[in-house]
Formats: sequence, structure tokens, C-alpha cells
Amino acid sequence: MLSRCGRRLLQVLGLSFPLLTRRPLILCPHRLMKPLVVFVLGGPGAGKGTQCTRIVEEMDQTMATNAQKNKFLIDGFPRNQDNLQGWNKTMDGEADVAFVLFFDCNNEICVERCLERGKSSGRSDDNRESLEKRIQTYLQSTKPIIDLYEEMGKVKKIDASKSVDEVFDEVVKIFDKEG
Ligand code: ADP
Ligand code: MG
Repeated sequence: MLSRCGRRLLQVLGLSFPLLTRRPLILCPHRLMKPLVVFVLGGPGAGKGTQCTRIVEEMDQTMATNAQKNKFLIDGFPRNQDNLQGWNKTMDGEADVAFVLFFDCNNEICVERCLERGKSSGRSDDNRESLEKRIQTYLQSTKPIIDLYEEMGKVKKIDASKSVDEVFDEVVKIFDKEG
């Protein structure tokens, strides 16, 4: 049975956004508690998915606790003004954004990682031509959303050009600090 906030989240996110939790996002165990959300943003290939997977695998206890506390991590959202407006309109008063986890990585590294990923991912958009466009879309549409949250003091920036382990160490520090 979906809670009301769960149904709203589903409406806003649609089914295309990968959600960081193996537990159903939609089950709100404490229905009276407002969900607390962490948005995970960064360029294509910055390592959002990699780090999200790792958080789920290695912070299972934390994630279990977070799920009980109605805390959710959302990978790649909101990626543009349209997403943000949808979120604000639908979730206003229904959920709070704890912070934005921003994986900051320069474009060249992002492109190289995606090209490498493309060799085995089967993702048809992991080619140089698509990547040029995706980087432009990221810079034009997503980066301004990150900047907006930055102005609100809600961005936790991580240098995502480092190794997976080093980036994950930073992620853990942030979650430890933010609870
Ligand atoms: P995103 O979800 O942000 O698009 P992914 O997590 O899918 O990025 O990572 C893109 C590619 O880069 C994958 O092939 C992944 O294995 C690799 N990758 C991710 N993080 C790092 C890192 N810190 N250093 C080197 N390669 C990485
Ligand atoms: Mg991804």
C-alpha cells in the first residue's frame, strides 16, 4: 500500500529515475514523518551511480536506519528547471531536501569515463557525439539547479575526479557528519 507521500514521490520522479534504495522508496514506515531527501547530482560519468551503488552495498545499516527515518537518496534528480518545478509544486510541504550531493568532475574526465563505460554498458548514448550534447545539457540545465541549491547553502561538493575509494571516503564523511 503506498503512502500519500510515496504516491507523490512516484508522480514527481516517474519511473525513469534510478532511485537509490533497494527497499521500496514508496513505503513510508513512519507516515507522519516528512521524507528527507538527498539529491545526487553531477555530470554524466561523474560517478553518481557508482557511488550510489556503493552506499547501498556498504552503508546498509545506515540505509536501513535512514529508510526508517524516511530518508531517501535520489540519483540524477532534479536535472533541470522542469524537474525542479515539478518537485516544488508536488512536494512542497511533503518532503524536505536535506542536501545535494554534488559529484564535481571536469568534462574531459566525464567523457573519458563514459566512453570507457560504453564499451560494456550497452548504453547507446555513451558515444562521443552524444556525450558532447549531454555535457552541454548538464552545463545549461543541471548546473544552474546545483547553483541554486548552493545559494541556499545546501550543496555538499565532492571532488569526483579522484579514485572511487577516495570519493567514497568523502561520501562517508558527509553522511557521518550530516547524520
Ligand atoms: P554517472 O552515474 O554519474 O553517469 P557512473 O557511476 O555510471 O557515472 O560512472 C561512469 C563510469 O566511470 C563507469 O564506467 C564507472 O565505473 C567509472 N567511474 C565511476 N567513478 C569513477 C572514479 N572515481 N574513477 C574512475 N572511474 C570511475
Ligand atoms: Mg548514472
